[in-house]
Order: sequence, then structure tokens, then C-alpha cells
Amino acid sequence: GFNCGIVGLPNVGKSTLFNALTATAAAEAANYPFCTIEPNTGRVAVPDPRLDALAKIAKSGKILPTQIEFVDIAGLVRGASKGEGLGNQFLANIREVDAVIHVLRCFEGEVTHVEGSVDPIRDAETVETELMLADLDSVEKRIVALEKRARGQDKEAKELLPIAQRVAEVLRDGKPARVLLPQLDAEERRQLRLLQLLTAKPVLYVCNVEEENAAAGNALSEKVAAMAAEQGAESVVISAAIEAEIAQLTDPADKAEFLETLGLEEPGLAKLIRAGYRLLDLLTFFTVGPKEARAWTVRRGAKAPEAAGEIHTDFQRGFIRAETIAYDDYVACNGETGAKEAGKMRVEGSEYVVKDGDVFHFRFNV
Ligand code: GDP
Repeated sequence: GFNCGIVGLPNVGKSTLFNALTATAAAEAANYPFCTIEPNTGRVAVPDPRLDALAKIAKSGKILPTQIEFVDIAGLVRGASKGEGLGNQFLANIREVDAVIHVLRCFEGEVTHVEGSVDPIRDAETVETELMLADLDSVEKRIVALEKRARGQDKEAKELLPIAQRVAEVLRDGKPARVLLPQLDAEERRQLRLLQLLTAKPVLYVCNVEEENAAAGNALSEKVAAMAAEQGAESVVISAAIEAEIAQLTDPADKAEFLETLGLEEPGLAKLIRAGYRLLDLLTFFTVGPKEARAWTVRRGAKAPEAAGEIHTDFQRGFIRAETIAYDDYVACNGETGAKEAGKMRVEGSEYVVKDGDVFHFRFNV
């Protein structure tokens, strides 16, 4: 699966947000037995109206959305890169996630702030600085080792060395490794991933605001939005406290009424989940039949056999071909039979690059 790590300074609302996510996951778990819940990990369904539309056409007995995993990564304090607090564990946990959700306190109020005042831009810099220091330390050590191996004519070391040096320069300049990404080709990006840097991961800023600002945000969340835009990152506005309350409401009518009172069209978590999904650069494909309609996830750029492998490793190993109907065609032709009759079903081979919204049947040898 694909996952996002939730980070931020103490007392910014991470646990509140995470608990709202897991409460949502727990509610879903009743419907989808494959939703598992672990202490610091919550798997939640990715809302996708296309799946409901497909299920309706195919009269599917079950609807199974795709999922994304959120990991609560507690323990960041100033000095983490020097091993302060739970520093090392914290950094190791971030290393393992695909993307970072950075919660920033944008609510005033009684709650104590570790830095003494509410300032999300400063907080973002505090966290980012720790991550950049940890990356610089790691990449400098890596360069020493790579230089040694490169002198011994090691091919991989020779390839990695230039990118490691470029990253070190960026970090020394006080910038995160991800600013390099737009300048890199696919091969260089792969090399950058091998360096396993914390600041090379995509980031989504979550502005945690008070209840009355849940719909429109506030002056602080606007500052964060501007900072995010400068970095080519995204930000979303959420009131974690409100989300925790929404997550407790099991009756759909109560939920709708509460959302309306708040001026919200949907729970902030739905927004967050979709933004997290975009952040991971994933796309969704579907399998649809009378038994179930199901959404699946692959990384953008994946080929048909890899998508088949998401369903079962045997599908990938024995892959013969994929029969696919684009979502729009499936809907326009009112289902599989209509799409086939209209010549909208394509037969694709192992080099086919999966498109968002493909409705697949895979053919394979066992
Ligand atoms: P963490 O240390 O980042 O996990 O922060 P917590 O989730 O434990 O929240 C710290 C404190 O802030 C708690 O007392 C929460 O009730 C409070 N808090 C969290 N989110 C909000 C919010 O949206 N509005 C307000 N007013 N308080 C919040």
C-alpha cells in the first residue's frame, strides 16, 4: 500500500487529526472487512464518486473503495536531527513513508505552544530545518562512501555521486531536496530516491484552524497557502477538533446537518484524503462486475501487468493481456456490454501504460 506520515510539532493537533481518521476507518471497517487498524496506522477509503456510478450500472453487490494509509509519526522537537527527544526513531519513521503530511497549528486559544506563540510559518521552518540537517548529515556521509567506491571504479557509485553532490549543495543552501525534482529526469529521480532523503518526499501542509474558520480558513492559513505555493506544494484547511466530532456521527442525516451548520460541503478529512492521494502521484483503476465494484491504486506510469499484480501476483506473473474500457465510455455506453458493442473495449498488451479510470479485465495463465 501507499502511505502518508503525519508530522508536526507537539500540540498542533496531530493526534486529534489522526484519531478522527482512525474513527472514520473504524466506521468503515464495519462495511469493509479488509480495513485494518493498528495503533499508529489508519487505513481509510479514498472517496471516489466514479466507483459508485460504476457499481450502479453493473448492479454490483459490493462497493470496495481503494485505500490510503496514514501513519502517526509523533516525537518531533527542535534538535531531533541531533538525536534529541525521540529524534532518531522519528527520522527513521519518516524515512519509511511515501509522502509527508505536515500539520501546522493555525488556531489560537488556550493550548500551550512549545515555541510560546502561534506562528505556522516558523513552525514549518523548525520542522523542515531538522529534516534538512538530518539529510545533510546523511548525504555527506554518503558522499564520502561513494567517493571511495567510485575510486574503485564502482559503476553505481559513479552514477550516484553527482546527484548526491547536487543535493548536498541544495541542502547547504538551506533548501529541501525536493526543489531539485523539477530539474531531474526519470533516471535522476530514481537515483535521488536511492539516497532516501527526508526532504525529497512530497509534502502537504494541513492548516489546523478553529471551528469558525473550518470553511474559509484564516489569516494564518492564508500565509501557509502562500508558502506552499512558493514551494510547489499544496495546503488544506481543516479543524481537527471538528473532524473528530464529525467522525463520531454515525447517522448520515446528523452528519449532513452538522456539516451544513459549519458551512462545509463535506468533511475536511475527505479533502485531506484526496489531497494525500494526489500527493502520492497515484491513479485509480477499476474492476467491475455483478459481485463487486472495486477501485485499485497504482503509481502513475505503471504498466498493465503491474496493475494486474495489485490484484494478485499470479495475475502479473501469468499476464497475457488486459481488456480495458475507459470510465467515460463505460458510463456513456451504460456498461460493459454496451461499450463492447460500441467498439469501446480495447485489448492492450504488457507495455500498456495504465490510465486513470481504466476499467479492466485481466487475462492470464495460471
Ligand atoms: P499533537 O501533540 O500534535 O498530537 O496535538 P493534539 O492533537 O494532542 O492537540 C493538542 C491540543 O490542541 C489538545 O488539547 C487539542 O484538544 C487541541 N486542539 C487540536 N486541534 C484543535 C482545533 O482544531 N482547535 C482547537 N481549539 N484546539 C485544538
